[in-house]
Amino acid sequence: MRLPKLRELKEAVTAVFSPRFTTRFPAEPCIVPEKFRGKPQFDLDTCIGCGACANVCPSGICLTATDDLEADPPVRRLTLNYYTCIFCGNCAENCTTETGISLSHEWDLAGLDRGAMTETHEFELQLCEKCGAVIGTKKHLVWLYEKLGPLAYTNPSLLIAKSGELTKKPQDVHKQTQKDDSPQTSDFMQILCPECKCKLNIRL
Ligand code: SF4
Ligand code: SF4
Repeated sequence: MRLPKLRELKEAVTAVFSPRFTTRFPAEPCIVPEKFRGKPQFDLDTCIGCGACANVCPSGICLTATDDLEADPPVRRLTLNYYTCIFCGNCAENCTTETGISLSHEWDLAGLDRGAMTETHEFELQLCEKCGAVIGTKKHLVWLYEKLGPLAYTNPSLLIAKSGELTKKPQDVHKQTQKDDSPQTSDFMQILCPECKCKLNIRL
């Protein structure tokens, strides 16, 4: 019976003379380890608004991507509610561009106002010029063009996206083509969704 007590006493004495295991925060800043997973942070230079990160976010409400077709121009909104983040890192691991989002070293996130713990970023959408379906964000198309290099020349949609034709509003183009829904040769030089492209290729 005495042996365990003696061991506990030895541990207590050792702990008293050992260095601290806790930090002195908030008296001193807390330095986190290199691989610490803190608040997710977008890099808006490399994020293309594809929404892949929202698809893999296990919390379901922390990172969301919603398309607003009523907005002028139509946009995709990426919303980060970081008060619901579980800091799993899935978003960063599965980011299409690899650097669009990363987990920062920011950890002191407590607050009383949830609104202040939400951030939203908008990306202009590209709609199919034939049927109006959402293809993706304009930034995503341009990124694909650059990623594919010479191979992008096989895809007129990517070429047009890159060449700045995107300044024309997709809805206006759609209205112009609505009178005749059947695929035309001229449709090749439009930005098309996969379904319209498929119909066009089968018909011609
Ligand atoms: S770290 Fe995990 S929970 Fe937080 S936004 Fe990324 S995927 Fe979602
Ligand atoms: S997966 Fe990466 S590039 Fe795509 S929306 Fe998320 S952060 Fe941006």
